[in-house]
Parts: sequence; structure tokens; C-alpha cells
Amino acid sequence: MGDKDIFDYNVLLERLYESLPKKRVTETIEIPTLNIAHIGLQTQIRNFKEICDIIRREPRICMRFFLKELAARGTIDDSGIFTIYSRVSAQTLNALFRRFLMTYVRCSTCGSLHTVLIRQGKVWVIKCLACGAESPVKPI
Ligand SMILES: [Zn+2]
Repeated sequence: MGDKDIFDYNVLLERLYESLPKKRVTETIEIPTLNIAHIGLQTQIRNFKEICDIIRREPRICMRFFLKELAARGTIDDSGIFTIYSRVSAQTLNALFRRFLMTYVRCSTCGSLHTVLIRQGKVWVIKCLACGAESPVKPI
């Protein structure tokens, strides 16, 4: 690849970024349903990391929310499976996950799920990538 090709490629990229961002962040996020499995007295969310990646949240933060609400213990393994050391119904997990989305992901101004969570010590802020609004939330 010569210099000219690289230059053209960069121009192309710039054009892409100039024209895309606003459109991109207003698209609806497709969040898969929780893939829940009960193994003995334990409960697993098998696609936990995948879902956290889609909603742009650290799995550890999301896990902490679940464990705190359930007053349970648990862990995330290397393949992204979240195991709760307790038997929890799918209904309860889905309700909790919905609450997490409403509280820690959804923009309270425009309703978009395209947001990031900014943490500065004890100050947590949801920043919306669609409308730019920033709303403080209670740390988990
Ligand atoms: Zn917004």
C-alpha cells in the first residue's frame, strides 16, 4: 500500500465519522434476553459479558448491582459467565436487569440506551451519546 492509498483511506474514514455518529447512536440497541441456567443451587447468566458489552457497562459493575440486590455472592469467569451462588428465578433476574437498565443505562432525558457510565470516585454520571445529557446516579 502506497502513501496515497493510506491518505485516501484516512479521508474516507473521516468522512465516515463525520456523517455517521449522530445516526448511529439513535439506532435501537438490541439486547438479547438473559440466558439463564440453574445448576444445583447455583444460577448462571451465561451471556452476561456479551450483554454488558452491548450496553457498554463493565460486567463487574453490573454484577455488583445484582449481588447487592439479591444479597448473594457470585463471580464472573473468564468466558463471561456470571454465576450466582444461590438459586434465583428467571423472573427475578429479568426484573432486576430491567431495573439496572432503567437506572444505570437509560438516559433520563431522551430515553436512549446509548450511554456511558462515568465514574469519578463517589460521583457517578450517565452520559448520553445520543443527546449529550449527563445525569448523576447513585453509586452501586
Ligand atoms: Zn439522551
